[in-house]
Amino acid sequence: LTSGLESAWNKLKGEEVLTKENIVEPMRDIRRALLEADVSLPVVRRFVQAVSDQAVGVGLIRGVKPDQQLVKIVHDELVKLMGGEVSELVYAKNPPTVILLAGLQGVGKTTVCAKLASYLKKQGKKCMLVAGDVYRPAAIDQLEILGKQVGVPVYTAGTDVKPSQIAKQGLEEAKKKNIDVVIVDTAGRLQIDKAMMDELKDVKRVLNPTEVLLVVDAMTGQEAAALVTTFNVEIGITGAILTKLDGDSRGGAALSVKEVSGKPIKLVGRGERMEDLEPFYPDRMAGRILGMGDVLSFVEKAQEIMKQEDAEDLQKKIMSAKFDFNDFLKQTRAVARMGSMSRVIGMIPGMGKVTPAQIRDAEKNVKMMESMIEVMTPEEREKPELLAESPVRRKRVAQDSGKSEQQVSQLVAQLFQMRVRMKNLMGVMEGGSMPTLSN
Ligand code: GDP
Ligand code: MG
Repeated sequence: LTSGLESAWNKLKGEEVLTKENIVEPMRDIRRALLEADVSLPVVRRFVQAVSDQAVGVGLIRGVKPDQQLVKIVHDELVKLMGGEVSELVYAKNPPTVILLAGLQGVGKTTVCAKLASYLKKQGKKCMLVAGDVYRPAAIDQLEILGKQVGVPVYTAGTDVKPSQIAKQGLEEAKKKNIDVVIVDTAGRLQIDKAMMDELKDVKRVLNPTEVLLVVDAMTGQEAAALVTTFNVEIGITGAILTKLDGDSRGGAALSVKEVSGKPIKLVGRGERMEDLEPFYPDRMAGRILGMGDVLSFVEKAQEIMKQEDAEDLQKKIMSAKFDFNDFLKQTRAVARMGSMSRVIGMIPGMGKVTPAQIRDAEKNVKMMESMIEVMTPEEREKPELLAESPVRRKRVAQDSGKSEQQVSQLVAQLFQMRVRMKNLMGVMEGGSMPTLSN
């Protein structure tokens, strides 16, 4: 899917804006890429329409190219398609929370039981597994082994007891033991059949579960979405768990499930190890599909910055190197709010990467900077040179703000660094030398 989409962006290289005409070819590529990823045709049609509608008439953002802009639109539509927000597990008001797992044979139900227990245990929840697959003794053994591996008790009652009976006994046991979450494994078949559905309905009736999650194999593509729909109609489910995402390079299942069935994907399995289960984040998934994280965040940041009311004003100041402590304060506060200016700077080729740790530090520093800037005189704020040139002034700021002189010097140096970076960012390469602090 990723490589299929690439040719779409490439067709826009060199264009100035997105138009009805120049998006025709890229949209054709997107359509083909989605179909090849095994996304169902109606979903593809709606998707392509939504993207086209938005692409035409989208406003220009300074510094963002049309192909980058289209990447962003496609990304946002992908996120929407997959349900937008992450869909959290629901917990019962009165414990235990009961999670019933269903699904065809071999999709990873039993593995998910243990993975989910391990995942919830890390969040401090007391879990218990119930072995409801009575058709193969090996299935019970498998659950017991996995339970032991993750340190979670497993309730078993052999293969002679009806699944609904085991479910009932398991639930009673869990109540006695003050368990927070009970996860019930069930038997799957190779195909949907009436006996399996009836059995699931029975188990569901007995348990009155908080969550009924259908486990589906990502590698089955749009078939996964059809299964979610069928199970939902037949027994009523609350969501899906998509397994074997590690082996799926197409992405069709992840893209179709929500749109086709109306039910969200809540968790995804990405491997055979117990830690390979995580919540399903539509935005991360979209990012992965596009494989263009940098472009996306760049466009986002550029949009955010442009949204700032005083963007124009700020730019003028940057161009004329008038960026002062007032702007610095405004900017650092905005940075703390919206992520990071430095992240944007880090994305410009040749500007060097900024690590998340550095960004966190920067955000922590905002408070410290504020306290120093607040005790500066209006004149000092507007003319940072005054502080650069006068150790006496820096000493006063240090004393009034309760910081060290070194910290004040650092702040002043940072402002000048910021001027240089911003000038570079705006493509103004001349000037911008850093004054050194005189002692
Ligand atoms: P069940 O029949 O639905 O209970 O399926 P199992 O839990 O027994 O899993 C069937 C096979 O799929 C096992 O070999 C698992 O190790 C494997 N499996 C389960 N989840 C994943 C996953 O997310 N990725 C990969 N690569 N393999 C998985
Ligand atoms: Mg099983």
